[in-house]
Amino acid sequence: MEKANEMLALYNSLSRTEEPFKPLKKGKVGIYSCGPTVYNQAHIGNLRTYIFNDLLKRSLTYLGYTVRHVMNMTDVDDKTIKASQAKNIALGALTRNYEELFLADLTALNILHPTKITRATEYIPEMIELIQTLMKKKYAYKAQDGIYFSITKSKHYGQLANLEKQKATKERIKGDEYDKQHTHDFALWKFHVPEDGDVVWPAAFGPGRPGWHIECSAMSMKLLGTSFDIHTGAIDLLFPHHTNEIAQSEAATGKQFVNYWLHGGFLTMKEEKMSKSIGNILTLPELTKQGYLPVHYRYLCLQTHYRSPLQFSFENLDAAKQTYERIKRKIIELKATSHKGADKTKEYTQTFTQALRADINIPAALQIFLKTLEDVSFDSEKRLALLEQFDTVLGLDIKQMKEEKITLHSTIKALIAAREEARKTKQWAEADILRQRIKEAGFILTDTPQGPKVEKI
Ligand code: AMP
Ligand code: ZN
Repeated sequence: MEKANEMLALYNSLSRTEEPFKPLKKGKVGIYSCGPTVYNQAHIGNLRTYIFNDLLKRSLTYLGYTVRHVMNMTDVDDKTIKASQAKNIALGALTRNYEELFLADLTALNILHPTKITRATEYIPEMIELIQTLMKKKYAYKAQDGIYFSITKSKHYGQLANLEKQKATKERIKGDEYDKQHTHDFALWKFHVPEDGDVVWPAAFGPGRPGWHIECSAMSMKLLGTSFDIHTGAIDLLFPHHTNEIAQSEAATGKQFVNYWLHGGFLTMKEEKMSKSIGNILTLPELTKQGYLPVHYRYLCLQTHYRSPLQFSFENLDAAKQTYERIKRKIIELKATSHKGADKTKEYTQTFTQALRADINIPAALQIFLKTLEDVSFDSEKRLALLEQFDTVLGLDIKQMKEEKITLHSTIKALIAAREEARKTKQWAEADILRQRIKEAGFILTDTPQGPKVEKI
């Protein structure tokens, strides 16, 4: 277990500083992650955020904590309703389909599934109860189209996003009691309108559906308690989503909702956030169709700290793929090696652990993994065991790495034979051209004393 002088430091968006991590219950951590809105296939920007969640969770586990990780599926909101109507299928059928695709993406990326997945539509009674509490405490009021949360009643509204409350107050709008009283007041509940079709739940304050923010407050508090350790999401959720989650949860319970807020940086494409509305998205199946493995994308994400923006380009992905494949070859080699050497387990473990403790510095941890891999003076068996330990955090699945039998198409075989012939007859230029053609077909050819060796790139 962690010693006091060996504490984990986490950057907390709430204080905008790195803070020593102190869980509410010794040795245990409760994490809530905002999950996907299941109305389309997730893009690789979304998936970067789930890789970040995974690395956080795996790091905490490595450091000795027992992690309870809850993630939701936003399966009712404007977008899901619109998509189900556009496709003329029931909301539940649409969202289940995208939920399955999302979970398949997680599996493909070696992302450990959450301890508990919550669907918003399965926690409506909890949301209604929370809204009733807020109404009783006069934090919420009824307007024409729904129940709203009054931000001016909230004590520290906007602390997370560093909003100046005064500025927000100045924007107060005129209106009678049935209007939204303030521009930043947000809907806790939206009364049923004909456009919502059959998407409606009964409630004492009027039939309708929940607002997005109340969904996460109700589900996280139900499963992790009214105060819990860590809440995650990408940086765009800081305001308004997380700001509003804090306001309504703390208004209802009178307690601090979350102790540590962790936000991941964006995946960008040419300096712009990858997003559906900009139209610059790529999905995981699109990458695999182009010959990349999901783990190549995971590797790309490991190379950048979770809070920094990550610039996506195919050049970067190609580089990540090459490094990953080189690691794979080395691991396979190491598995076949048996040579006694020094035991450096302790020193490498120490630096690896230090990297994790410095706000989950995965790029630094990855460097230590690579250094360990390359250290030929380190006993081969112990080295492999340690790398497998490190991999419980990195998730490259090195235990599964083994020589793959490759079946070569006859044209590749012909190219290899022609190159051998060119080499034997000392036609070096010709041999080089043929080697290049083999490479373009996706194979690396190396000459060994036993003859040419072919590996998939
Ligand atoms: P959504 O499905 O739109 O609710 O988004 C799911 C998650 O992906 C949220 O945590 C978003 O903040 C996050 N997200 C959206 N776009 C990006 C991006 N370009 N890079 C990283 N995370 C993103
Ligand atoms: Zn959320």
